Amino acid sequence: LEINRGKKKVIGAADGKEFQVDYDKLLIATGAGPTPLPVPGADLPGVLMLKNLEDGRRIKSYLNQNPVKRALIIGAGYIGLEMTEALHELEIQVRLADVAEDLVPWAPPEMRAIVQEELKSKGVEIRTGCEITEIQRSGGGLRVVTKKDPIDVDLVLVGIGVKPNSEIAGAAGLELGPRNSIAVDKTLHTSDPDIFSAGDCADAFHIITGRRVWIPLALRANRAGWAVADNLKEDKVFLPGVAGSSVFRVLDVEVARTGLSPREAAEAGFDAVDAVIKSRSRAHGHPGNTDIHVQLVAEIGSGRLLGGAIVGKEGAAHRIDAIAVALMAKMTASDFFQCDMAYAPPFSPVWDPMLTAANQLLKKL
Ligand SMILES: Cc1cc2nc3c(=O)[nH]c(=O)nc-3n(C[C@H](O)[C@H](O)[C@H](O)COP(=O)(O)OP(=O)(O)OC[C@H]3O[C@@H](n4cnc5c(N)ncnc54)[C@H](O)[C@@H]3O)c2cc1C
Repeated sequence: LEINRGKKKVIGAADGKEFQVDYDKLLIATGAGPTPLPVPGADLPGVLMLKNLEDGRRIKSYLNQNPVKRALIIGAGYIGLEMTEALHELEIQVRLADVAEDLVPWAPPEMRAIVQEELKSKGVEIRTGCEITEIQRSGGGLRVVTKKDPIDVDLVLVGIGVKPNSEIAGAAGLELGPRNSIAVDKTLHTSDPDIFSAGDCADAFHIITGRRVWIPLALRANRAGWAVADNLKEDKVFLPGVAGSSVFRVLDVEVARTGLSPREAAEAGFDAVDAVIKSRSRAHGHPGNTDIHVQLVAEIGSGRLLGGAIVGKEGAAHRIDAIAVALMAKMTASDFFQCDMAYAPPFSPVWDPMLTAANQLLKKL
């Protein structure tokens, strides 16, 4: 409930009783919470969110107890897109609504089109630029009122983002970072030397821009927790930061990114250029071969790689890690192009799509 830094006490409540715990060192690992949908009717039965396992069980039991044939997912972030796949597998007709004009807005148009096409080809109705204003009961189901046409469904899943659980830290006067996340240094100390913070509630440094960012993902959360354990007595572990590497699957398409998109690079003050290529996931003529799109971004002048994105039916998810390593090593596009990538027909063409992208990027640089 509260941190009293002066007395080095944490005040809490459990089973209706208040308690106090003294601390020498404190770790705040309160995670992030779902952003509530700020419209009337968001608390109706059948309007559900997904943040933790309990929410997952609630969704499952709702599906088991109600004849859900049509669902609306509000928010086309990675959780919304993964839920689309899960409901589609259950043969539920899925509609996906987002206030943004594009799905995966950070990706180049070629990649966005693949995600859209994949969803449409599996019968998912996409409503972008769609602002929800109210949810009402309607017959046995729900009517979702938007600024355009209403949408009638049996279930609404809300996944419109998360926010850091940093209220207690803020109230205790700890410095806050982007989006009100708890500001930590590279050894995970907050602005109070006796208080650490780790996980989704805390910020991190971006390894490309050097700026504070809030990108709440599992590897960083886990790594930061371990680092705090190591740093309790003395600072032993120093975390350089994050590249924002992430990956998700939507139906049969893998979508992955790391580092900065061209727009983010420009916003961070880089004079950047990108190359987007289409190649194949396996050697030419190998059965099962599918299209794969790769984008690489680099700084004009230095040639330093700034980011990358990959979309395809196979081989996107793990290829992105090579680009993440290149970013960490501060490689140039030319260094990356010289990397000795493994080749065999079931796994890639002789020139891996990432090398083809680097070659095209070099021409632009
Ligand atoms: C549906 C879903 C899918 C995801 N998939 C991926 C993925 O594929 N890849 C990926 O990298 N990341 C993914 N994430 C993100 C990942 O789950 C988080 O980055 C990670 O769980 C963060 O761990 P954490 O310990 O910081 O926070 P949490 O796991 O949220 O734990 C924080 C805990 O603190 C408790 N708490 C909060 N406030 C208080 C308080 N005042 N007092 C006491 N306790 C409190 C909370 O109840 C919670 O149990 C996903 C998240 C969701 C919701």
